[in-house]
Amino acid sequence: MKCLGIESTAHTASIGAINEKGEILADVKDMYVNEKGGIIPIEAAKHHKNIFPKLLDEIKKNIDLDKIDIISFSKGPGLSPCLLEGMKFARKMALELQAPLIGVNHLTAHLEIGKLLTNIKDPVFILATGANTQVISFEGGKYRIFGECLSIGIGNALDKFGRAIGLGFPAGAKMEELAKNGKYVELPYVVKGMDVEFSGIITRAIQLHKQGVNKEDLCFSLQETCFAMLTEAAERAMAHCNKKELLLIGGVAANKRLIGMLEIMCNERNASFGVVPIKYSGDNGVMIAWQGILDSKLRKFDKKGIEKEDINPNWRIDQVKN
Ligand code: AMP
Ligand code: MG
Repeated sequence: MKCLGIESTAHTASIGAINEKGEILADVKDMYVNEKGGIIPIEAAKHHKNIFPKLLDEIKKNIDLDKIDIISFSKGPGLSPCLLEGMKFARKMALELQAPLIGVNHLTAHLEIGKLLTNIKDPVFILATGANTQVISFEGGKYRIFGECLSIGIGNALDKFGRAIGLGFPAGAKMEELAKNGKYVELPYVVKGMDVEFSGIITRAIQLHKQGVNKEDLCFSLQETCFAMLTEAAERAMAHCNKKELLLIGGVAANKRLIGMLEIMCNERNASFGVVPIKYSGDNGVMIAWQGILDSKLRKFDKKGIEKEDINPNWRIDQVKN
């Protein structure tokens, strides 16, 4: 069985294909970038609408579309205008190829591609994406959230600071570079149980920047503070769930300092640590295709129900029924 997955929850438009053995068959993407500031949903949606036909031309070079058995798309969570463009494109493809259409959860897709591409089997996940930051584990037959960000996600927090100091969007990787030449200044540290709160820290960092503290020091200190908070929450969840594995997922998993901190904590607990390969840490169509394969085995779906699928912008991972 082969599945074509369409991703469009936020800044990335992507099409990927995978078979049921987990072999990646095709993988193309293009990202909306806004040098002046953050993501503007309507603009990102326009980008996706324009780029999907071009991505499809690319993908046709790698794979014969007639051999595709299922089409999957990101149903949510995500930005409504962006999700709609993905769904419309997926529906058009499903009609053209006469293939069933499955809407999948974008967050379970991030987790499952991590499991597929590492040796990790039943971990606590740290999901660190732009909009989401959650400590998740599979308990009692479903994914449950043990801790999460109380306001904004880690990636958005870093991007917000980056925007304030003129780094453009996205800022995480640029901040990682600047942090290499920084030294520590104190910032608020907010962990409540397994929940983390980043917005106050960002406000304080922006204040300090206005008072003349240099950006290298602030980037370094933001990383040290926010990532230590995530490490604390991860360790607590591992103890609570009695899990011996940790898997880092999401676009922020590209950050070497975050990886380093979590690695030290896992070594101290004799636990295994995995990181989703950088190529698949951010949003991508391959993970949506893999989730399509997994869902097609578990879920009853109407093989002719192409018109029935809809988006679900606020779909939490703990609401996903298996
Ligand atoms: P996602 O929403 O999973 O696609 O991840 C996108 C987020 O990852 C954005 O907020 C980026 O700023 C962030 N990001 C990407 N690379 C890095 C990095 N090296 N360090 C920190 N954050 C990063
Ligand atoms: Mg994502």
